[in-house]
Amino acid sequence: MTDYDAIIVGSGPNGLSAAVTLARAGLKVIVYERNPTIGGGARTAELTLPGFLHDVCSAVHPMALASGFFRRFGLDQRIDLRVPEVSYGHPLDDGRAGIAWRDLDRTADGLGVDGAAWKSLMGPLVANAGRVAQFTGSQLLQLPRHPLTAALFGLRSLEQGSPAWNLRFREDVAPAMLSGVGAHSIRPMPSLATAGAALSLGTYAHAHGWPIPIGGSQSIVNALADDLRAHGGEIVTDTEIFSLDELPSSKAVLLDVSAKSMLRLATLPEAYRRRVERFRYGGAVAKVDFALSGPVPWTNLDLRRAGTLHVGGTRAEIAAAEADVAAGRHSEKPYVLVAQPSIADPTRAPEGGHVLWAYTHVPHDSSLDQTEAITRQIERFAPGFRDLVLARSSMTARDMENYNPNYVGGDIASGGASFAQLLARPVLSPEPWRTPAPGVYLCSSSTPPGPGVHGLPGYYAARSALRHEFGITAAPNLAPSPATTSAP
Ligand SMILES: Cc1cc2nc3c(=O)[nH]c(=O)nc-3n(C[C@H](O)[C@H](O)[C@H](O)COP(=O)(O)OP(=O)(O)OC[C@H]3O[C@@H](n4cnc5c(N)ncnc54)[C@H](O)[C@@H]3O)c2cc1C
Repeated sequence: MTDYDAIIVGSGPNGLSAAVTLARAGLKVIVYERNPTIGGGARTAELTLPGFLHDVCSAVHPMALASGFFRRFGLDQRIDLRVPEVSYGHPLDDGRAGIAWRDLDRTADGLGVDGAAWKSLMGPLVANAGRVAQFTGSQLLQLPRHPLTAALFGLRSLEQGSPAWNLRFREDVAPAMLSGVGAHSIRPMPSLATAGAALSLGTYAHAHGWPIPIGGSQSIVNALADDLRAHGGEIVTDTEIFSLDELPSSKAVLLDVSAKSMLRLATLPEAYRRRVERFRYGGAVAKVDFALSGPVPWTNLDLRRAGTLHVGGTRAEIAAAEADVAAGRHSEKPYVLVAQPSIADPTRAPEGGHVLWAYTHVPHDSSLDQTEAITRQIERFAPGFRDLVLARSSMTARDMENYNPNYVGGDIASGGASFAQLLARPVLSPEPWRTPAPGVYLCSSSTPPGPGVHGLPGYYAARSALRHEFGITAAPNLAPSPATTSAP
């Protein structure tokens, strides 16, 4: 007899997706969370002024409609996801901009002479977006279920991940757009990892859009927690776990912690421990949240409709900024990822006000405040921005780790997302979620398919635990019951 069937340490999107999957299989589940509130990288809070609701970590959710877990869970039936007309925008000097409309044709039209090249690159992927999501959302160390789509994706990744990346285009807008999306992976470019990010996220931009949840990212994890509780699961907050020996008895323990923290928490065979110690943490993030008295005055008017913006200029400028970070330097002209949640969600700020979310890449473990660097880059493409700022809240890379130990040195991916580390995450194994310690699983973004709010590492880890510890091979039904469906 055990106290619980399964215990989950950490209530991030992956801890909760694991917990829901296990509870839906009929198991007795409990989640422990060190923070006073649930959600990990998907919390929303009044960071600046009363009534201004900021996403503390994730803000925009390209995987919300694409993730195999969220599709099974019916996320779009449980919460209100708003899809901005412009998935992402990319300002360039002289008021020019690349605009990734949800509509692929409209995007291509805006790219002039490069429109046809954009369509030939993205069109086949957008037409097979479900298969792209299946392929990139799985462990890469397996035969692809849809080999043709995998080949389409792989060939394009080789092109955009190599020095041949400029050959397809004649002007500078389309290349800048791809680099802006690729830079999400915080890697030097061109590389397979940045190309893979550009092509997968770029595909969802035109297939589903990049949704913003009403009420903030918190509403995603709240929906998971509601479902967990409705199926008998418990959540205990304000409780940091320092060793698995502290936990009640259970058949399985799933750790929504970084691979590094797992080494501290669990007793593991020496050979496995040494392999996990080789797992590397990458470039980091420093973030600033702004409370604004009005919308950002982007010079290019279409940018005012974008949920997300990639600020940093041309492909060459972004590549140089990312190279600086990889070399341990703070860039003079950094790449800045910006989200404008309140253009899609009026509940985030008092009447007339707006919230702006922005982060930049910095060297691992940096303690440098990036408020001025970020403000300068936004001001470059939106003169007058500074005058709208009512209040700001800043987090350095080191603050990120203090806030959440999963972000080692400010690495928000919980382990560098290089191609090698997407294959071996945190070790090369057909089932990397399962550790050699009996009943112990790793379910965080330190496992495949890696970072992002999609719940997939948690889902795969839970399926692995169900198979090995409970002999359950069938996928639990995760669909919402009519009573839990509240979104329109
Ligand atoms: C600034 C920032 C911006 C981001 N932007 C986006 C975005 O826009 N879109 C997107 O899709 N993704 C984004 N991400 C990435 C995304 O948030 C993460 O990939 C995702 O949250 C990982 O989920 P997880 O469950 O693996 O871990 P986390 O979300 O990090 O959750 C881990 C949880 O475990 C808890 N925990 C850790 N150790 C212990 C312990 N010993 N005992 C008890 N509890 C513990 C932590 O407090 C935390 O709540 C962003 C991340 C950051 C930090």
